[in-house]
Amino acid sequence: MSEIPRAYEPGKIEKKWYDFWLKQNYFTPEIDRKKKPFVIIMPPTNVTGELHLGHALTATLEDVMVRWHRMRGEPTLWLPGTDHAGIATQVVVERQLAKQGQTKDEIGREKFTSLTWEWANKSRENIRHQHQLLGASCDWAREKFTLDEGPNKAVRTAFVRLYDRGLIYRGERMINWCPRCQTAISDLEVEHEDIVGHLYYVHYPLTESKGFVTVATTRPETFLGDTAVAVNPADKRYKNLIGKSVTLPIIDKEIPIIADDAVDTSFGTGALKITPAHDPTDFEVAHRHNLPMVAIMNPDATMNENAGPYKGLERFACRDKVLADLQDKKLLEKIEPYSHSVGHCGRCQTMIEPKVSLQWFVRTQPLAKAAIEAIKDGRVIIIPERFTKIYFDWMENVRDWCISRQLWWGHRIPVWYCHDCGKLTVSVDEPSTCIHCGSKQIIQDPDVLDTWFSSALWPHSTLGWPEDTDDFRHFYPGSVMETGYDILFFWVARMIMMGLEDTGKIPFHTVYLHGLIRDESGEKMSKLRGNVVNPVEAINKYGVDALRFALTTGTAPGNDINLGKSKLESSRNFVNKLWNATRFILQSLDTEKLESKSIELQPQKIEDQWIDSQFNKLVQNVTGLMEEFQFGEAEQQIYDFIWSKFCDWYIEIAKIRLRNQLTLSPLPLLVNILEKSLRLLHPFMPFVTEELWQSLKERLPDKDQMPTSIMIAAYPMVSDKAFAPEAERVMDSVIEIIRSIRNVRAQYKTKLTKWIEARVYADELLSGLVTQANIIETLAKVHPLTILGRQKREPTKDEDLVLVLKETEVVIPLAGMLDRLAEEQRLMKESKEINEIIAQLEARLRDNAFLSKAPSPVIEREKQKLTKLEDRLNRLHHELSQLNSSSADS
Ligand SMILES: [Zn+2]
Ligand SMILES: [Zn+2]
Repeated sequence: MSEIPRAYEPGKIEKKWYDFWLKQNYFTPEIDRKKKPFVIIMPPTNVTGELHLGHALTATLEDVMVRWHRMRGEPTLWLPGTDHAGIATQVVVERQLAKQGQTKDEIGREKFTSLTWEWANKSRENIRHQHQLLGASCDWAREKFTLDEGPNKAVRTAFVRLYDRGLIYRGERMINWCPRCQTAISDLEVEHEDIVGHLYYVHYPLTESKGFVTVATTRPETFLGDTAVAVNPADKRYKNLIGKSVTLPIIDKEIPIIADDAVDTSFGTGALKITPAHDPTDFEVAHRHNLPMVAIMNPDATMNENAGPYKGLERFACRDKVLADLQDKKLLEKIEPYSHSVGHCGRCQTMIEPKVSLQWFVRTQPLAKAAIEAIKDGRVIIIPERFTKIYFDWMENVRDWCISRQLWWGHRIPVWYCHDCGKLTVSVDEPSTCIHCGSKQIIQDPDVLDTWFSSALWPHSTLGWPEDTDDFRHFYPGSVMETGYDILFFWVARMIMMGLEDTGKIPFHTVYLHGLIRDESGEKMSKLRGNVVNPVEAINKYGVDALRFALTTGTAPGNDINLGKSKLESSRNFVNKLWNATRFILQSLDTEKLESKSIELQPQKIEDQWIDSQFNKLVQNVTGLMEEFQFGEAEQQIYDFIWSKFCDWYIEIAKIRLRNQLTLSPLPLLVNILEKSLRLLHPFMPFVTEELWQSLKERLPDKDQMPTSIMIAAYPMVSDKAFAPEAERVMDSVIEIIRSIRNVRAQYKTKLTKWIEARVYADELLSGLVTQANIIETLAKVHPLTILGRQKREPTKDEDLVLVLKETEVVIPLAGMLDRLAEEQRLMKESKEINEIIAQLEARLRDNAFLSKAPSPVIEREKQKLTKLEDRLNRLHHELSQLNSSSADS
């Protein structure tokens, strides 16, 4: 039988058990058509970069759910996967190329894509490894990547179906354009930053008469693309000018003055320059008034031929030149400082250029309607519920979704353009000819799809859709989608829309949203602040179980989580406490053998019934909490039970009986409660529970009938016959009595070894407390202990201390306890007196009048006196500190 080591060393056991679970194939469910499966499709991890705490949180929460359901006997599938992460990955690889002095255009699309595949494969390996470190019990045999053949076919199929239904179209729309990445990017990928810029007031001369209109703009260079000046029809200042025209300076172009209700009269001068191709609001104004669009920039944000004399200039150089020219012509009225929010590319920090371009869009409103219904009628539930309103707000105002990206890394858009007839062939499989004219001169759209397009199909594409696979039929829809609340719209909403659209069914029944992780003081974690906790470092230092526990204990769904050193340390302390308790029980088992089946015995003694009843209550609470997704509270209750009730009370009580061979042994019940507690804790702390459970199992007589691993053992169930309210009442009182006597001892600094006397007036609990007298005596160090019935209301003597407790009264004669306190007071008093005399002596020895008049033997005597007193004071201090240290932790 293997010895259980003195200290818990997580690193040694984690790999051992993960490999064991993998070898036993526990993570792969068997398809049993008679049983309803529990299914989580893991949010695909981006193949960029390292695992951070957010991933660790996701992996932990999902693993908790999955292990719990598996232990409840449900066929359980947790399907892991990774996301190609479009622009994010492409930028990482471009940066690597740049370090070698190369660009993607130099090496070409094919070479670049193969380099990116190499990077992605390495990264996927790393992600898989890190999830295994965390103990994630997901089915690696079913692992998917968004660019795998299956999900790729799903993407093309979904595109073609939407196109055929008229829900995908190509059109000119305003998008966020990154001139460095040279692609459209989603709103999510734009970071807004407040900057202090300038507001330039520019004169536009009237065409037919003298005078001018002044417009205010933050981007004067865009005047080259203006196609109108708009004023509010209610604005008296400009009433007479509506319908007239102005001539753009420098390029001498005539543009109309129009009226539009959307013009804000308080901004600038109230006359707004309209640049439809480079501003989202202007784009909409232009649509209402049928204005032309004039794009003035190339994809790299240099000026194009529409910029006339400025053609070829970079956008900011152009601004400088435009300002200088306007100044020359005395058309620049004034410049004011102006703070405004400017969008930057989230990947490369380049300033975003709003731009009209020809892109592919999904008509989202018809899809959103069905997705709103699914939440309204309760087919999909969002936890916590408060996010439901946010979901509706967003979905009811949803805008068309730009799905094309000018990137090389991703799902190529399945559209081919015909050189001969100009028509489009939209097809799942690569066509060899144009379906309209049969021409072989067709060329595929160079763009790829937004990475969220494939993510939106993730719940069904991972299970084999559009093929009618066993997995799809058995595991779709999934049970829970667990993710961060920050991507409710970008991802969760789109999965619901696309799941309903493609399969006619909701993709999952429950959406569980977790919060963001902050540092101990609630601050956002950032590299700049230096408060980032690296999960791999935390694992090395505290162990996986402690990290998992710290991440999830005591938190509620959707709430942000504070994590730092102290939480990690207290989680590790908990693991150590469990380890030491188990070690004690195992050592007892090595000296006293259990008889077969004895761990199923019905508890006899009050304390046994109490712990059994308390455990049963815990199981009842935990089961309820888990069903309501309150994992943090479930963990907190398990922690409280194991730490306090089991370790601090029951084991200490059991030790009394273990020392006394004549009474009934508590060992069967110790083993029973420990074994069940380990199972209860397993979903949260898989490694240490498996290690301890296996060591325990080795020592049990019926080990051959037990499962091969705790992870496939049954989760504890409530047993009605275990509830023992009467035993709980007695033991609650026993604990309260011991606690209050201990408090009194601490207060009076009673020596740990000293026995004190106590009387307990037990009232109704008399018969119960009498049976527990030995426990009170030993744990409160009380002798003699007298337990009496009803308190006779005789006046108590002054020197008796009376503790009025919930159901009992405890009387402690103070006589035996006071000596220590009196001793302390005596020492304090003496040292105070000596201090005063010392102060007087010192004052005299500093007094020049005394020193000059007194004979030297007198001065010498005073000095000796001082030295003696200082010696005495030192000895007093020493005695006092000894007195205090010997009464500590009593
Ligand atoms: Zn960029
Ligand atoms: Zn054709």
